Amino acid sequence: MGDNLQETKDLSGRLIVTTKDNPQSQKFPALISLANDQFRCQRCQMVNCQSTYSITSQLFYCPECLVLGRLTNQDYLIAYPEQNDFVVPPHPLTWTGTLTPKQHAISCQLCQVQMNKQEHLVWAVTGSGKTEMLFAMLAQAIRQGERIALTAPRVDVCNELYPRIKAAFRTTGVSLLHGQGANHYYYSQILICTVHQLLKFRAAFDLLILDECDSYPYVNNPLLHQAVQQAVKKRHTLIYLSATPSPEYQQQIAQGQLNYSLLNRRFHGHDLPEPQFRLIWRQRFNCLNKQLLHSITTLYQKQQRFLLFVDSIKQAEFISQLLHQELPNLQQTFVHAKDPLRGQKVQAFRDNQWQALVTTTILERGVTFFNIDVMVWQADSHRFNAQTLIQIAGRAGRSAEHSDNQVIFFAKQYTLAIDQAIRQIRRLNQDE
Ligand SMILES: [Zn+2]
Repeated sequence: MGDNLQETKDLSGRLIVTTKDNPQSQKFPALISLANDQFRCQRCQMVNCQSTYSITSQLFYCPECLVLGRLTNQDYLIAYPEQNDFVVPPHPLTWTGTLTPKQHAISCQLCQVQMNKQEHLVWAVTGSGKTEMLFAMLAQAIRQGERIALTAPRVDVCNELYPRIKAAFRTTGVSLLHGQGANHYYYSQILICTVHQLLKFRAAFDLLILDECDSYPYVNNPLLHQAVQQAVKKRHTLIYLSATPSPEYQQQIAQGQLNYSLLNRRFHGHDLPEPQFRLIWRQRFNCLNKQLLHSITTLYQKQQRFLLFVDSIKQAEFISQLLHQELPNLQQTFVHAKDPLRGQKVQAFRDNQWQALVTTTILERGVTFFNIDVMVWQADSHRFNAQTLIQIAGRAGRSAEHSDNQVIFFAKQYTLAIDQAIRQIRRLNQDE
């Protein structure tokens, strides 16, 4: 009986795949045929061509939301209404830290946004402590019995948020859901999940927070935008968080379509390190650029730890290899997304086992190392847009004692992206 009750609860707010035989009257077909050989998927709302995605002459499937399991025209869906069946603790916030005056001001604004059920963007520079600013609003929503989703495009961010949110709200149910590794879903007042997983919910959340709304794969992905819109209730609060809002958000702000709060100071109150630009004038084939080598040698002698960002896996391997020839005693290695030892290498760097890490953009965001200088090799590469360069620069100066870490962009030309990144950092530093 107890288990059945829990099972029924677990369905609350969910979109569940079922068969034709299910006697539930609210079931509806997963895929609906449209004119001209087209069909619409009712889980993700994407439209595709039947003959392109046919398995047999009678059977076709949706290619867009395949990652959640194959949905065919023989499947049915049931959307279970959200019950908001929570035991609400009187004092949900168990975090006892303090906010800076700037953080506090934004925290109050967010409580107001939640009261008014609005959409709002928080533009908070890297290392400013944006998670803590959400706590008062979350506590307010919990007391009101609201169901809350904290979502991010990437699994790493969810994994990092999960223990922090659990620690800050010890008496509230918090569950974690994403496609990697073991994670057990249960009906909880707070859900931390990747944006993809929101497709498993329908009109479930009163408050949804979308972290890193400017990052891959959420950006320019209609499926994931749809996932967010479907997962929230009709009357909802939606908070976007970003350190580097994409031009689309900035345009919405400029046109008055989206309200926002700006936190341009790090929690320690110091400026963001301003990148220096170094023009590369000569690049000889198959050897390390002299200017780059000179900068690295200086850091090596000072025993200053650093990250060197490059634009491809090949470059990461190549430069690390050349460095090994030129400076055999420099403790360094390379890392990239496909590296099976990625996790261990990053941890070893964190533990001071390496002085330097040559990396692709995988370490562009979401990682915090203390007292790190940052260099970008070939910053004029098309792989580095302004947002990426700002995020990379944000890896430096994370602690109060070392807020003046260096950031250097090496490039053959001063691109628009480099210009925009440097200007934006300068502007954020000037704003009071
Ligand atoms: Zn679909």
